[in-house]
Amino acid sequence: INHLLSRLRAASIGREAETFAHLQDGSEVSFGALFEGAARTAAVLQANGLKPGGRVAVQVEKTIEAIQIYLGTVMAGGIFLPLNTAYTVPELEYFLGDATPTIVVCDPDRFEKIGRIAGSATVLTLDCNGRGSLTDLVQESAPAAPVARNADDLAAILYTSGTTGRSKGAMLSHKNLSSNSEMLCDFWRFTKDDVLIHALPIFHTHGLFVATNVALLSGASVVFLPKFDADVILDAMPMATALMGVPTFYTRLLADPRLDRQRAKTMRLFISGSAPLLVDTHQQWEARTGHRILERYGMTETNMSTSNPYEGDRRAGTVGFPLPGVEAKVMLDGTEVPKGEAGVLWVRGDNVFQGYWQMPEKTAEELMDDGWFITGDLARIDSDGYVTIVGREKDLVITGGFNVYPKEIESLIDEVDGVLESAVIGVPHPDFGEAVVAVVVAQDADLTGEAVSSAIETDLAKFKQPKAVRLVDKLPRNTMGKVQKNLMRQTFNDLFS
Ligand code: ATP
Ligand code: MG
Repeated sequence: INHLLSRLRAASIGREAETFAHLQDGSEVSFGALFEGAARTAAVLQANGLKPGGRVAVQVEKTIEAIQIYLGTVMAGGIFLPLNTAYTVPELEYFLGDATPTIVVCDPDRFEKIGRIAGSATVLTLDCNGRGSLTDLVQESAPAAPVARNADDLAAILYTSGTTGRSKGAMLSHKNLSSNSEMLCDFWRFTKDDVLIHALPIFHTHGLFVATNVALLSGASVVFLPKFDADVILDAMPMATALMGVPTFYTRLLADPRLDRQRAKTMRLFISGSAPLLVDTHQQWEARTGHRILERYGMTETNMSTSNPYEGDRRAGTVGFPLPGVEAKVMLDGTEVPKGEAGVLWVRGDNVFQGYWQMPEKTAEELMDDGWFITGDLARIDSDGYVTIVGREKDLVITGGFNVYPKEIESLIDEVDGVLESAVIGVPHPDFGEAVVAVVVAQDADLTGEAVSSAIETDLAKFKQPKAVRLVDKLPRNTMGKVQKNLMRQTFNDLFS
């Protein structure tokens, strides 16, 4: 038996004719067709040399056929390795060289260029309409039978978003994925009656291992959208029950006057993650729709680690409690800190990955022998058990020997009249080592840096006060909506030199 695949399929057995995906062109894909296509894809991958443990690297647009490559790879005992569609060909060279896949699937436009950097891999194509050399082969192929795989075999290598440096390949086992998604189905009360708006990319853990796996495990259907589009989501909302999104989904939906209680009437759950949700967004969403967004926290290496409760108080600005089966603690210099104090978040559980692909030293530094994983995120756990992420260790500012947690200052700045959002960074400073710098996006055109400084001055110790406030049009973000502080540090690197 194939550990992950058998579980992903279980909820649809006997319901093969029912709808899994509602596509944008009005057509539907049944569970039967989804898995039949996946089994044919598995056969094509095998015919092209895929053996258990071999890698299938995939850089394609979001289509049902792409989901079938994921399922087909797992079915064939292979390791699925999706890549961000934004990566350029030179960037892909690193990933393909690192992962040495047996097969690469890419857009037909890139076939030749990728052929040159793919080494000995077979290159197949798939376009945004689900057409390509792969599809041609799938249509002629008979379905393959699932290859047996154990809980500990690898199912995927998923590269991290590269927010803090070069992306690392997180090795995820069948059990890492199944245990986490099964628990999330229960925790978030997903059933076959749910209709999930699926607008996240499927090269990232959020869209692939949270949204897709949770939908399949619970036997729910999805409104399958190739990308975020506020209009299309608002059109889909009256027939849906749940949405999973990054914070920018929510801010963009709020900008549309059509969003109201009536439109969200059939919805039971709005989930946010991958980046911090502003308290303000949380409050505005509740005022407009009557729903409190459920914020959760996870990472490529661990899937989901904490979540606000389904029933009970969803606290804005926090990421809730450690999920069932996940332990969490906050550490500083090798010891656990008292409740309420900040430090580095460590997590442990079946969700924690098997290590970084071909990075034994980095793995040894971050993944302890007793199973604890050092997330690199700074957090606090309050006396009620709620976890708050206060920044990343790499973004901690150390000024004149004092630690400054960016989130504390960002939260204050975000409250200032006329501010839309902010990011606090540390830049080199001749006297202090690093200086606190606030980068602010204004909501009102007449906002000034001085106004921001004076508004927060009384609430902050001198060393925490920004030595400079810079107004910008927008914060640099990657495709997952994550603020790229490393880019901002480069931009403002010479501010004090
Ligand atoms: P890299 O590791 O390559 O620098 P990355 O950490 O952004 O990139 P991901 O694994 O996609 O790559 O993202 C995980 C990170 O996203 C977490 O470590 C955390 O910093 C952030 N994150 C996820 N959910 C939340 C949340 N709800 N609130 C705040 N931060 C979050
Ligand atoms: Mg990371």
